[in-house]
Amino acid sequence: MSVVEGDITRVAVDAVVNAANSALKRGGGVDGAIHAAAGPELQAELDRIGGCPTGACRITRGYRLPAPWIIHAVGPVWRGGTADEDSLLESCYRTAFALARRHGLASLAFPAISTGIYGFPKDRATRIAVAAVLDELSRDGTVTDVRFVCFDAETAGLYRAELAGR
Ligand code: ADP
Repeated sequence: MSVVEGDITRVAVDAVVNAANSALKRGGGVDGAIHAAAGPELQAELDRIGGCPTGACRITRGYRLPAPWIIHAVGPVWRGGTADEDSLLESCYRTAFALARRHGLASLAFPAISTGIYGFPKDRATRIAVAAVLDELSRDGTVTDVRFVCFDAETAGLYRAELAGR
């Protein structure tokens, strides 16, 4: 596991994970950046899939991204902590791993799902992400390289502190 500060659309891994919405329609934040970089074929493939429940993931090609695959994870909108947000967020990381194993993907890059427009508290989301990824890495040898790609220094600092404390 490593923490990198930067733009996930430029990372060369087997799959980048997107923070998508349940309609699988182009949005803002990391989703908008991934659509802009991948090209219009991405929305066409997502339209054929049609949608995805919160806490789950769907996989598409990466098109013009350096990564050949995109795993679209639908994180929960933060509603104050009483709407099962923690387990829905954990489920995003776990189902991304399940898809990666099914497709034989060794390297994954994750953004900080739900912590932008969806408003999930960043420190709480970081603990959930790191714990889920550590546990998944210990279960199976398919995925061997996970990068947490942080768009800002604050997020990178939270991930580095969380990893250092383990
Ligand atoms: P959500 O709707 O799930 O909250 P956002 O895209 O708004 O998703 O934010 C999720 C995280 O992705 C935030 O930490 C945001 O700063 C970050 N982010 C935005 N653009 C990029 C990018 N190009 N690469 C990596 N992370 C990004």
